[in-house]
Amino acid sequence: LDYASYLKGWIRTVPNWPSEGVMFRDITPLLQNPKTFRMLIDIFVHRYMGERIDVVAGLDARGFIIGSVLAYELNVGFVPIRKKGKLPFTTVAEEYELEYGNATVEMHTDAVKPGDRVVLIDDLIATGGTMMAGYKLLQRLGAEVVETAGIIELPELGGGELMRDLNIPLFTVCSFD
Ligand code: 5GP
Repeated sequence: LDYASYLKGWIRTVPNWPSEGVMFRDITPLLQNPKTFRMLIDIFVHRYMGERIDVVAGLDARGFIIGSVLAYELNVGFVPIRKKGKLPFTTVAEEYELEYGNATVEMHTDAVKPGDRVVLIDDLIATGGTMMAGYKLLQRLGAEVVETAGIIELPELGGGELMRDLNIPLFTVCSFD
């Protein structure tokens, strides 16, 4: 069994949450176990440690958990991309569509500098809306997104495919059909 398959076994599926028909992929067991948490972080650390990375940007809220530890391990700074209304300083905002309605993510205008090489991280890619909104914010501030990364891809929801079609580099540890 390889690392990715082993870690996938620590993700819990909760049926009908947060609404009927949804199979929620719950990463808390993976984070709670010290060994799998370390294995997970190490996959990302090994992937980026040879690259010139200036910043890790994490998406609200589970992207903060893995993104901050990854940034610390790579000896680079961490930037939070937050849901609307949470950041105190001047922000740039990007709106995107959800199944029902819209959502907005924000980032501080001084969070990255033009030319900064950034890894953008979240826990899961479904439609790709959240990850692409974060990607657009970073691009608008002139950063170079080296790669977007997640623990889980849900191929049925098409986000990964959409991002590959747009030539947005994406790495995920595992996927659930
Ligand atoms: P997307 O924008 O790609 O449609 O949805 C991804 C976002 O929704 C991520 O920020 C992720 O945290 C959250 N999300 C949606 N479904 C799930 C799920 O089944 N499990 C987890 N852990 N997060 C989910």
